[in-house]
Amino acid sequence: MTGAVVQDPDGSRRTVTADHYICAMPVEHARQAWGRKLRAADPQFGRADKLQTDWMTGIQFYLTEPTPVIHGHVNHLDSPWALTSVGQAQYWQGRNFAADYGDGQAADCFSVDISEWDKPGILYGKTAKECTRDEVAREVWAQLKAALNDTCRTVLRDTQLHSWFLDPGVSGLGTPAAHNDDQLLIHPTGTWFNRPTARTAVPNLFLAGDYVAVDIDLATMEGANAAARQAVNALLDASGSSAGRCSVQPLYRAPEFKELKHQDEIRHRWGLPNLFDLG
Ligand SMILES: Cc1cc2nc3c(=O)[nH]c(=O)nc-3n(C[C@H](O)[C@H](O)[C@H](O)COP(=O)(O)OP(=O)(O)OC[C@H]3O[C@@H](n4cnc5c(N)ncnc54)[C@H](O)[C@@H]3O)c2cc1C
Repeated sequence: MTGAVVQDPDGSRRTVTADHYICAMPVEHARQAWGRKLRAADPQFGRADKLQTDWMTGIQFYLTEPTPVIHGHVNHLDSPWALTSVGQAQYWQGRNFAADYGDGQAADCFSVDISEWDKPGILYGKTAKECTRDEVAREVWAQLKAALNDTCRTVLRDTQLHSWFLDPGVSGLGTPAAHNDDQLLIHPTGTWFNRPTARTAVPNLFLAGDYVAVDIDLATMEGANAAARQAVNALLDASGSSAGRCSVQPLYRAPEFKELKHQDEIRHRWGLPNLFDLG
C-alpha cells in the first residue's frame, strides 16, 4: 500500500502516505475504498462484500423528570418497530444530569434503538422510512407509551418530553431517497466465514472494526475494540517491534449454558426446533 486518499469536508482531496495503514471504517464504507489491486492481493477483501448490514438507528428522548423505568435494558417485544430502550441518567451516579447536560431542563435521557424500518407503525400506518423525522419521533414515542403505560401505571407522560434527537446518519426520511449512512453489521448464518482478519496479505495494511474476525462474534463496541487490538498487534509484528502487545481477551462464555448449547446444536443438525421454541 503506497498511500490513502482522504477527502476534507470542503471536498478537497489529498494523498496521505505512511509506513503502515489501518483501515477502521465500517465495512459498508471500507469496501468501497478497496480497489482492484487490493482485492487481487487478498481474497478476504472480496469475501467481505458478502457481509450484510441493516438499519438500526438510535433516537434519544430528553425528559424533564428522572425516568429510570428499570435498572437494565427494555426489549419492547410487541412494538411494531422492534424498539429497545434504556434510561440513561441512573447509570451516571456521580453526575447531576440536569446540571451537567443541556439547558438545565432535561433530567434524563431515554435512549431508544429502532430496529424495524419496514413495517407500519401505530400512529401513521407508515413504515419508519416513509415517515419524516418528526413523524418518526412521534411514532416511536407513541409505541413506547403503548408498551409501558399499559399496566395501569403511567411511566411516560407527554408533559415530560423536553426534546428528542435522531441520528443524523439517516437522511431523506419520508422520501423515496431514504438513506442510512450509519448501518449495523448483521450476522446471518455463515457470516463468520466472510469476516476478514486484522492482518491482511498486504504487509502494511491492517483492518479494524466490528466486522473483523474476533472472538466476540457480534457487532459490538467490544468486538471493534478487540479488532483494533489485533490490528495493533499485527502491525507491531510486521514492523518487528519489541513493544508490549495489547491484551486480547476471549469472550466469556457462561459454563452453565454450555450443555444447553450442545443440545441445541444436536437438535439443529437433526432439523428439530430449539427446545424452548414452543411455536
Ligand atoms: C443504534 C445502535 C445501537 C448500538 N448499541 C450498542 C450497544 O449498546 N453496545 C455495543 O457494544 N454496541 C452497540 N452498537 C454497535 C456498535 O456501535 C458498533 O459495533 C461499533 O461502534 C463499531 O465500531 P467500529 O469502530 O467498527 O465503527 P464505528 O464506531 O462506526 O466507527 C467508524 C468510523 O469511521 C468513520 N467513517 C465512515 N466512513 C468513512 C470514510 N469514508 N472515511 C473516513 N471515515 C469514515 C465513521 O464516521 C466512524 O467515525 C450499536 C449500534 C447501533 C447502530
